[in-house]
Amino acid sequence: MTPDRHPLDRDVQFVKGVGPRLAELFAKLGVQTVRDLFYHFPRRYEDRSQFPPIGSVRPGQWVTVRGRLLELDSRPSRGGMAITKATLTDGTGIVSLVWFNQPWVRRALTKVEGEILAYGQVKEANWGIEIHAPEWELVEEGEDSDQFGRIIPVYPLAEGLQQRWVRRAIETVLANDLDHFVDPLTPAILKRQMLRPLRWSLRQIHRPESEEFRLQARERLVFEEFLYPQIAMQMKRLESHRETGIAFGIPEALWDEIAGLFPFELTRAQRRVVGEVLADMRRPHPMNRLIQGDVGSGKTAVAAAAILAAVRSGYQAALMAPTEILAEQHYINLHRVFEPIGLQVALVVGKQNSRQRKAALGAVGSGQAPIAIGTHALIQEGVEFHRLGLAIVDEQHRFGVMQRLALRQKGDLNPDVLVMTATPIPRTLTLAFYGHLDVSVIDELPPGRQAIKTYWKLPYERAKVYEGVRKVIAEGKQAYFVCPMISESEKMQTQAAEDLYYRLSTEVYPDLRVGLLHGQMKPDAKEDVMLKFRAGELDVLVSTVVIEVGVDVPNAIAMVIEDANRFGLAQLHQLRGRVGRGSDQSYCVLVAEAKTEEARARLETMVATTDGFKIAEQDLRLRGPGQLMGTMQHGNLDLKIADLVKDARMIEVARDCSEWLLQIDLHLQLPEHQGILSQVQEHPVDKTLLTVS
Ligand code: ADP
Ligand code: MG
Repeated sequence: MTPDRHPLDRDVQFVKGVGPRLAELFAKLGVQTVRDLFYHFPRRYEDRSQFPPIGSVRPGQWVTVRGRLLELDSRPSRGGMAITKATLTDGTGIVSLVWFNQPWVRRALTKVEGEILAYGQVKEANWGIEIHAPEWELVEEGEDSDQFGRIIPVYPLAEGLQQRWVRRAIETVLANDLDHFVDPLTPAILKRQMLRPLRWSLRQIHRPESEEFRLQARERLVFEEFLYPQIAMQMKRLESHRETGIAFGIPEALWDEIAGLFPFELTRAQRRVVGEVLADMRRPHPMNRLIQGDVGSGKTAVAAAAILAAVRSGYQAALMAPTEILAEQHYINLHRVFEPIGLQVALVVGKQNSRQRKAALGAVGSGQAPIAIGTHALIQEGVEFHRLGLAIVDEQHRFGVMQRLALRQKGDLNPDVLVMTATPIPRTLTLAFYGHLDVSVIDELPPGRQAIKTYWKLPYERAKVYEGVRKVIAEGKQAYFVCPMISESEKMQTQAAEDLYYRLSTEVYPDLRVGLLHGQMKPDAKEDVMLKFRAGELDVLVSTVVIEVGVDVPNAIAMVIEDANRFGLAQLHQLRGRVGRGSDQSYCVLVAEAKTEEARARLETMVATTDGFKIAEQDLRLRGPGQLMGTMQHGNLDLKIADLVKDARMIEVARDCSEWLLQIDLHLQLPEHQGILSQVQEHPVDKTLLTVS
């Protein structure tokens, strides 16, 4: 142990009563220092003043019961599982405690002499009631004259670690080490936010004197957990506002030219967002802007406007998409927009033969093509831009940060970066994850769109669904069938698509033109199918989720998603966004059983709304942020106490406070802000996966 180590950085093994063996168990929980012990928060609390009599508890309730063991029984089940069963009584009734495959529980229970506490959900059993896999612990001697008060913390444990050991260790550091904490938050901040001081909060979170105090303690700790990353992201954002970038000399007449690009008028939201983008581009600092827009909100038009602004100011623009299908789609669309005004668009994708590639790279390198569209092939070795000024990344969550970095560095200048995402996430999450970006939201759909009618049908109703699709096709429209997502494996996915294709093309629609699209097809074959479908030469397209993003065929107005319960909400929403892209009434049919409550809730949400933001909020509620963000990581948000859903409001509060603070002290140089600064430095923004610059 180094002598100058801060007392809070001491190894837990030196805490009285802990020692090296327990320290090893604590390490499994990520608790290594005294400070970590303080930040090992209870996962729940128990009011020990009232245990319900066992005779009064009912199935469905979550309860803590207290009693003596009557019987202990352990045997292998027929399925090969070891089942441990203990009967517990308090004189008013009997409950069975049941553990599966946890032989150590039996060993531990054998030694029990006095009373135990057991916590869990009560279930109905053949002969009375049971609790499956309950948490349990011994009733400590002297528990009734308890020094903790009546509200007892219950801590997360690791195997082999007992609740009372954790309680005792935390009790010890609360008594001896609490004074070593210095509150990073200044009195001014505490007052502004009406928050409790740190030491008070740490004590109350572990041994609350009342429910009210516990909530106040929690509020303070949650606030802090959001604050430091928020400050870090805000500093980053404000920093990029001062870096040297390109000040595009966008001509005044640009708006007129933008208006002439499209056969439609931009929506108010599109115009507002284009305005925000152009304002960023004019500034002599690099743009780092995220554009959020629900599927079909018209992000491509906004991108096109930004591209034109760059080109008319004498720079090149690049647009990078996550898949070849999407890159080609963008290429087709933008080529159609820009060719009539004499601007060459180059396509750079991996599948090109060397002649095509050479031509494309030549045009990009010489500047002859002011616009380049591509996949990650755009950022590979050997791609040189003549004068890259604007980089647009579509569907950003599919790219790792390194790829984006590489795109940015293709310019010698510091190009502007625009990130577009069709994954609407609630505003609070945007703040939590993209606080370092400026954000624009296209919160309006083009006029004349009709909400997609969505139905949920059970598998036995398939025949009717197929008939319905047939009617749509008879009217000259087209339909998608999305095959069930059976696994992450491409090969299995392909198999599923081929099966569905076979069934539809031979049994259900032998008289119609059915096509197949999946990720393992050769690029040429994929393109061929897409072109045919777009040209109306196919009636039905059977596909895997490769059509999830970006595909735009307005004449396709029906989609059937097989086994829709296998998809997450966000993904269903993306898939559904492939229809309803024109002015015709569109339909989406989810064919699924709902075996779980969650599956049912998801399907019902899809039927009830087409608003991506509402769907995202529901997804967040049902599955938590990890799922919603998909492959995105929590990045620098490693939450110990805060809950992104429950505490969403606090994210805004933290954001507001960080803005206020940085207005006073942009670089956190004031002496009273040194505590905050060192906390902020523990949350470096560029370590996250989400950083653009
Ligand atoms: P997103 O990428 O946001 O899902 P797209 O840019 O692909 O949406 O646009 C969806 C469809 O809406 C396209 O067919 C596009 O031509 C059309 N569109 C975009 N903006 C408008 C508008 N302002 N008015 C009418 N149609 C529009
Ligand atoms: Mg798009």
